[in-house]
Amino acid sequence: MHKKISIELATRVKHLPPYLFAAIDKMKQEAVRKGVDLIDLSIGDPDIPTPKHIVQRMKKAVGNPAHHRYPSYEGMLSFREAVAEWYKKRFNVKLDPKTEVLSLIGSKEGIGHIPLAFINPGDVVLVPSPGYPVYPVATLFAGGKGHIMPLIEKNNYLPDLAAIPHGVLKKAKLMFINYPNNPTSAVASKGFYKEAIDFAAKNDIIICHDAAYSEIYYDGKKPLSFLQMPGAKEVGIEFHSLSKTYNMTGWRIGFAVGNADALFGLGKIKTNLDSGIFQAVQEAGIEALSTEEPVLKKIRDTYQERRDILYGGLKDMGFDVRKPQATFYLWTKAPKGFNSSGFVAHLLDRAGVLGTPGHGFGAPGEGYIRFALTVPAKRMKEAVARLGKVV
Ligand SMILES: *Cc1c(COP(=O)(O)O)cnc(C)c1O
Repeated sequence: MHKKISIELATRVKHLPPYLFAAIDKMKQEAVRKGVDLIDLSIGDPDIPTPKHIVQRMKKAVGNPAHHRYPSYEGMLSFREAVAEWYKKRFNVKLDPKTEVLSLIGSKEGIGHIPLAFINPGDVVLVPSPGYPVYPVATLFAGGKGHIMPLIEKNNYLPDLAAIPHGVLKKAKLMFINYPNNPTSAVASKGFYKEAIDFAAKNDIIICHDAAYSEIYYDGKKPLSFLQMPGAKEVGIEFHSLSKTYNMTGWRIGFAVGNADALFGLGKIKTNLDSGIFQAVQEAGIEALSTEEPVLKKIRDTYQERRDILYGGLKDMGFDVRKPQATFYLWTKAPKGFNSSGFVAHLLDRAGVLGTPGHGFGAPGEGYIRFALTVPAKRMKEAVARLGKVV
């Protein structure tokens, strides 16, 4: 007889926050099993395919034996140069491709790893909530303590930096911010970025700005890069992703730019854990960054049409909802008498429409739900029609 060993999870895994979407996932599977014609507005993943020219470039690059070997750790210089050029063109920000650009296996990878570079046990990371769940989890994995910065409607979903207690500030080393914001779809003003930069400089805190949605914007109002503000490069970095901009979530490519010391630290972690991005994907990334404006406009127009259908519909039904200026999400208060989960369950059960409960992104999201604009306009109209009958 062989003895079966007992396998116990590490404390850091045991301490992971509960997966709040588990109950919803179960309900969703149940609905699908029952044959419900489900309209799934819970998915933060573009339904539109990657533009053809990018796929073509990938097909060619795959055949090049030079790409079949280990890639360089920090990313091909040609990819980092393409990033620097894109930044200059899009934001008029100058970057040194050698020291101020780092390639990532998707921005989630970089966000997940950066606390390992700068956080010692007991150090504090300032984390927005509701927010992308990777910020608190990455903090936890590094042995850090997350301090929640609530994002509330009254403050336009911007953190109240002045409300952070002095004792917390003394231990804070890093701050995550994310605009255009998932899940609230809020955008940040120049004023907020300036305030955040002053705050970071005063307290020696590294700003990590997640700009994954900078290119998904509406009505021609382009969101800013935090690096456009004077002093930004002195205090922080910005994470970008090709996932949302070019419908490339499956390809796993992103990048971080800005403060060279912060990027050096993140690079140190990465060289010890991963071996970079498949170079054929980096070539496809170079191609993506040179995508012509009309192609991108078409993607934005597609989301904008869907936004207008859903926003208009919800508004007519009396929802307390803000018109998103960016991201492919719509964040709305649940009607009176419902909490987040209760309302999501109600809509799934009665209308076959699935949203995401706001509290799944953190306690301050309770009472809200998030709809993703990742279904075609026709389905979105159908969703609005069904919602109209049950709210
Ligand atoms: C989608 C998303 C990312 C991660 O995208 P990658 O595919 O890992 O590049 C990062 N931040 C936010 C807020 C997102 O919604």
